[in-house]
Amino acid sequence: MILSGKALAAEIEEGLKKRVDALGFTPGLDIVMVGDDPASRTYVEKKLNKAGDIGIRGRLHHLSESTSEEELLSLIGKLDADKSVHGFIVQLPLPKQINPLKIIAAIDARKDADGLHPLNLGMLAQGSPATVSATPKGIMRLIDYYKIQVAGAEAVVVGRSGMVGKPISYLLTNRNATVTLCHSKTKNLAEHTRKADILVVAVGSPYLIKSDMVKEGANIIDVGTTKLGAKMVGDVDFDPVSRKASVTPVPGGVGPLTVMMLMENLVELAERAKAEPQATAPPRRRRKQA
Ligand code: NAP
Repeated sequence: MILSGKALAAEIEEGLKKRVDALGFTPGLDIVMVGDDPASRTYVEKKLNKAGDIGIRGRLHHLSESTSEEELLSLIGKLDADKSVHGFIVQLPLPKQINPLKIIAAIDARKDADGLHPLNLGMLAQGSPATVSATPKGIMRLIDYYKIQVAGAEAVVVGRSGMVGKPISYLLTNRNATVTLCHSKTKNLAEHTRKADILVVAVGSPYLIKSDMVKEGANIIDVGTTKLGAKMVGDVDFDPVSRKASVTPVPGGVGPLTVMMLMENLVELAERAKAEPQATAPPRRRRKQA
């Protein structure tokens, strides 16, 4: 079976539009991008377009490649304080003169739409999640949409990044899967992947997972995206693997859900800001009179 993310993303989008209408104000999502990485540009455009479709006010802060850490921290301080900004993200990767961990730690955890702040990651690890990183959150939604059994399942995660591998291993652990987390130093990767009922691959290495590395009937979530010429490919050797197991396609699997979960996070942050008495939401912008 092909585990497509498109229909689910469309379903979630309709629900989010209703929640935005119910807010009574226009929620604001700011995106900070430093430099001109072409892949980042594409992702940022997708996020801003989707925000517009849902009724979220999207705003881009595009800084030059030579921006210093201090300059970026100063912008983050302003966004933390701006009440019209309900959530914001700093698009990764950042240029080498900037330490991403220092930047993420400077974001007010209540505005951390990407769920990458140490407080949010820590709460997730504790089993009491607040804001969950978009990609792992989307993966869990997809797993539930296809009614894949998680409790008691052997789950293998390949890749241990703070954005995908670690948080998805926490989410699967919190749902009572038995989780193995693999990485570049893992000896005999196939020995682990072959045991997986649920296999999540987030590496960025095209066709890393071959059909002899997966169990018959497994459910495989391919997070990897690599551009090979004009084609976008995943970490799974899709055609042979899909004859043996259920797999998410690349594109059209995890990607649409990642964008939608960022929107859901933003709506949740706006709803929380509304519920907190000290948070004054900006009034809904009036249409200009003709
Ligand atoms: P990352 O930070 O580069 O992490 C890659 C991980 O893969 C690391 O933990 C690394 O191990 C591990 N790894 C590398 N080679 C390996 C190998 N041969 N065997 C086993 N593990 C290996 O990447 P990321 O940010 O998590 O992203 C991973 C991929 O997902 C990328 O292609 C990215 O573009 C894609 N992505 C897609 C979406 C989406 O919405 N579709 C969202 C986020 C990311 P070490 O820790 O030992 O170095």
